[in-house]
Formats: sequence, structure tokens, C-alpha cells
Amino acid sequence: MIGGGPVGMFAAFYAGLHSADVALVESLANLGGQTGNLYPAKILYDIGGVPGISGADLISQLQQQVSHFHPTIMTGRTVETIDRQEDGTFLLTTSQGVIATKTVIIATGGGAFTPRRLAVDYDPALDDQNVFYFVRDLADFDNQKVAIAGGGDSAIDWALALAPRAQHVDLIHRRNQFRGLESSVDQLQQSPVQLHTPFLIESVDAAANHQIEVRLKEVRGDHTESLTVDKLLVNYGFMSENRQLRNWDVTLDRGKIQVNSQMQTSREGIYAIGDAASYPGKLDLIASGFGEAPIAVNEALSFLYPDRRQALHSSQLYH
Ligand SMILES: Cc1cc2nc3c(=O)[nH]c(=O)nc-3n(C[C@H](O)[C@H](O)[C@H](O)COP(=O)(O)OP(=O)(O)OC[C@H]3O[C@@H](n4cnc5c(N)ncnc54)[C@H](O)[C@@H]3O)c2cc1C
Repeated sequence: MIGGGPVGMFAAFYAGLHSADVALVESLANLGGQTGNLYPAKILYDIGGVPGISGADLISQLQQQVSHFHPTIMTGRTVETIDRQEDGTFLLTTSQGVIATKTVIIATGGGAFTPRRLAVDYDPALDDQNVFYFVRDLADFDNQKVAIAGGGDSAIDWALALAPRAQHVDLIHRRNQFRGLESSVDQLQQSPVQLHTPFLIESVDAAANHQIEVRLKEVRGDHTESLTVDKLLVNYGFMSENRQLRNWDVTLDRGKIQVNSQMQTSREGIYAIGDAASYPGKLDLIASGFGEAPIAVNEALSFLYPDRRQALHSSQLYH
């Protein structure tokens, strides 16, 4: 399964339900795709049977669901090429090694996500020591002086989550207005988080005691500030890149992968679902992707085991 967005996660669960041995490969450090990374605080109202759920909660429930069958989850790996061997096995070359598989389901959405980086040059050795683009564990920031850069939902959410745990939190944004939910912005203004607006980061340098100095410059002004902090968490959003699709030798339709009603691509044994897939009437919605996942998984299993009859209902399969 290439792509750990909501659709890839559900497909990985569904394949596990059918006793398939699944590896879920995701280029980001975390699962969740657009839903988990672009709009975690937004409430979704168009998932069947769920009257309303935040993006973050949907991903956390999918995480719980997918882990039931213990798939191999490989995060931080981007699939670059898909080559078929003579024995029919596919070799996926990733940014961290090669994976062998008998069939492939592509759920890469709009492309591989990478975080938008700071626009200033700084020593790359500071990455993951002092400069972070993800929060892997909130505890990494406990009792630390933390500066957060960004003005969207995710920057505000992290500032609010870290405020009670960190020694001090600074939030740096280039505008006076924040782009988060009104209720979160209100909460932010009541919190101990120190706001620095409208400021841009001008430089980041190593300082004494394993700290860093973050120099700020006022947007359209002359004021400068200097913060000495333990950690800088950058939340400038994500860029998506789907140039890899062109190396996969599947027929594309306006940048998406053309599939038939079995979710099969132009290459035998390779299926595509979710936002990555294109067919007449396709809607880029989670509900559509959730419907495509069982079709692709059942087709992939029929391709691998043509003589095996697949049970259809989860009550016969869940254990
Ligand atoms: C602001 C916004 C609001 C939305 N609101 C709604 C809504 O209310 N309801 C709704 O149903 N839909 C909504 N959508 C659309 C919904 O988010 C998408 O339909 C859904 O995320 C598609 O899921 P996916 O798993 O197919 O792809 P994605 O969520 O795009 O996930 C794909 C994953 O694949 C990974 N990936 C890509 N290429 C590679 C590679 N080569 N190797 C490894 N990993 C790779 C990416 O990093 C990413 O994590 C919204 C979208 C946006 C942007």
C-alpha cells in the first residue's frame, strides 16, 4: 500500500481483514495524509455513520482500526520506482531501501508530502536537534523553551498543546491575524504563549548550551528581536509532489492514475484508489476512497489467488 492517508489506512485495514500481509509505506513521518496534516481541526460531516468528526480524530480512529491486524507501517519513506521482476514480484525502490511485494495498491492522493521548510539558510546539523518540522512526541518539548513558527491551525494547536508542558512558548507569525479556528485563536490570546507578530525569521544559529538563537525582523518595519530557545518548531504547511507517478509506467489522466471499475491501473497487479485515482464521475472525497478500497483489495486478492473465493462480510472475517 503506497500512501498512508485516510484511504491507504482504511485499505490497509481492509486487506488485513482478508488476512493479507500488508506493508503501508508513507513518505511523511506520520500517517494521516491531507486529513491529518492539512485540516486536523476541521469537522467532517460527510463520512457515513459519523455525524461529525475532526480530521485528527478520524485519523486516530483509522490508526486504531488499521493496527488491529498489525500491518508493517513504514513512515518516512517515499516510493520512487515500481519494477516488476520475471517471477511477477514487484520491487518498490524507496528513499530508504527496497520492498518486495506481489501486488501494489497506490493511495498517494495528491502526492508525497514534505514539510515547507524555513526560508533561511541554517546549519542542517540543527535539524531534529533544535529545528523540527514534526512533533513526534509532545514529551520531547517538556520543560523546554520553544519557539513555534506559523499562523495556521496546526501552529496554534501545537502552541496550545505545548503551553502547559514547555517552560516557555513563543509563537512567530508574519501577520497580525492568525488563520486558525476562531475558538482556538481566542484560547491562544488567553494563554501564556508569547506572540511575535508581524515578524519573520531572519536567521537561526547555534548558541551556547545546545540552544539556538532565532533572530526576527518585523514585516515592513525595522524592529528586530532575538529569541534564545531550545527548540524551534516550524509549521509552514506541506508541499505535495507527485512526480514519482510518471516513473511508475501507469496511464495517467490529468495527473491522476486512470483506473477501471475494478480500480485496476494500466499495469497488471497494480491498483489505485482515493484521490490518486481517476475514472468517470470520480469525486475526491474520503467516502469515495473508502468505497474504492474494498474493491481494490478484493481485486488484488483475486489476482493473487484466482481460485480462492473471498468472504465478503466483515462478520466472517474479523477476529
Ligand atoms: C482543506 C481540505 C478540506 C477537505 N475537506 C473534506 C471533507 O470535508 N470531506 C471529504 O470527504 N474530503 C475532504 N477533503 C478531501 C480529502 O482530504 C481527500 O479526499 C482525502 O485526503 C484523500 O485521501 P487519500 O488517502 O486518497 O490521499 P491523501 O490524503 O492525499 O494521502 C496520500 C498520502 O500518500 C503519501 N504519498 C504520496 N506519494 C507517496 C509516495 N511516492 N511514497 C510514499 N507515500 C506517498 C502522502 O504523503 C500522503 O500522506 C478535503 C481536502 C482538503 C485539502
